[in-house]
Amino acid sequence: MKQVDRALLRQLPAVDRIMQWSGVQQLITLYGRDVVRVQVRNGLEELREQIGSGSLTEVPTEEEMARGFARAVEGALGGRLRRVINATGIFLHTNLGRAPLPPEVLARLALDAEAACSLEFDLVTGTRGDRNQRVDRLLAALTGCEAAVAVNNNAAALVLVLSTLASGREVILSRGEMVEIGGSFRIPDILRSSGARLVEVGTTNRTRLADYRSALSKSTGLLLKVHPSNYRVRGFTSSTSTADLVALGLEHGVPVVVDEGSGLLKPRSEAPFVDHESVSELIAAGASLVCSSGDKVLGGPQAGLLMGQRAWVDRCRQHPLYRAFRPGRLTYSGLEETLRRLLGGEASLLDRLWPDTGQHQRRLDRFISRLAEATSVPVEGYVGGGAAPDAAVVGVGVSLPTWKGQLEALRLGEPAVVAYVRQDRLIVDLRTVESDDDEALIGALLAAEAGSHGVRQG
Ligand SMILES: *Cc1c(COP(=O)(O)O)cnc(C)c1O
Repeated sequence: MKQVDRALLRQLPAVDRIMQWSGVQQLITLYGRDVVRVQVRNGLEELREQIGSGSLTEVPTEEEMARGFARAVEGALGGRLRRVINATGIFLHTNLGRAPLPPEVLARLALDAEAACSLEFDLVTGTRGDRNQRVDRLLAALTGCEAAVAVNNNAAALVLVLSTLASGREVILSRGEMVEIGGSFRIPDILRSSGARLVEVGTTNRTRLADYRSALSKSTGLLLKVHPSNYRVRGFTSSTSTADLVALGLEHGVPVVVDEGSGLLKPRSEAPFVDHESVSELIAAGASLVCSSGDKVLGGPQAGLLMGQRAWVDRCRQHPLYRAFRPGRLTYSGLEETLRRLLGGEASLLDRLWPDTGQHQRRLDRFISRLAEATSVPVEGYVGGGAAPDAAVVGVGVSLPTWKGQLEALRLGEPAVVAYVRQDRLIVDLRTVESDDDEALIGALLAAEAGSHGVRQG
């Protein structure tokens, strides 16, 4: 090793001295001495290697080193959840946390979570209450169901139903509905893991009532109908209506369960929802049980909802798995407030896919006046969360010049921004951006641009 390297090495501070730096002391307060010490040691080791190989000719400043240690500590702990500006136009983006919660719901959550709350305590009698009773009554009022129960997500709702009603029995399902919803959630696998036997009927594109009828046997536990959500068979197709299935189920004393999926409680007339039977319609058609997600179209926190006839709901609640799937107070608080607001006629968050034209134009104008070379452009937005994958909702977004590394720069900026590139232009769909975030988004776009000049010119 050369003499000059040894001099550089001697300039590196000792671990114990670094642990006294104010920037590092802050890290210790956040993450503890042990985790920080490991990363400081690793960081120093790396610097020594760089000096040894000649790639480092100057010892970094205290600030630079402290920043490096902070990045290493956070990296070692898997980083942080970060707030993201969703400019994709996909409203219920599963990778981005699905439905954003409105401020009123967040305020309720904070109130119910910061101290003790009456989650399962009857304040009138001073005795134990029912944590599910409020959701049960709210969903009855919203959908016309007799009873309802909340669990942690829709996958859990489905497992609970199948385990309760069909363990060791047969479940009849159309071949057109044997779908994978995403994240390895496959209906046939869920069925098997619940101890139910799958009986496939019909074909991918057509399943008739007679197919279900001929598959019925003494071992049939239930008739299952699954909303295919994220895919669609077009052309020569037909499926059996819920009403027809219900009539068949009644004839044979077999319950009919519908996995509605998105939590569309009432019918909507916009294109993505036209042939999507809402929970109210399914209940009115006589479905024994309907299951839905809480954080898709419903617009609440992650939850699974099981709604339908009281006898079936009660049986599900008596299954031992219910205890494993029941939600905690954060879910109940957010869900109850979401449902109360829906009951009060609160507009759906999804309405933002069809924004007020005047207001939307003012937002567009602001982006176009602040960002050089920005223009307005037709964009396609989606409900997301698996709902109506082929029903684009056309709107107007912002189009910007694109350059190498731009999407990454935006993702890693502050705040993080997720947008997309189409035909060599960066597309920003403002419909999925909170209007309060407009200034921050403009700032992030400008900052990414400012940091890019080397790349663009080089
Ligand atoms: C989304 C979806 C599910 C899964 O719901 P999670 O709440 O994510 O568990 C199941 N079935 C259908 C039809 C869906 O759309």
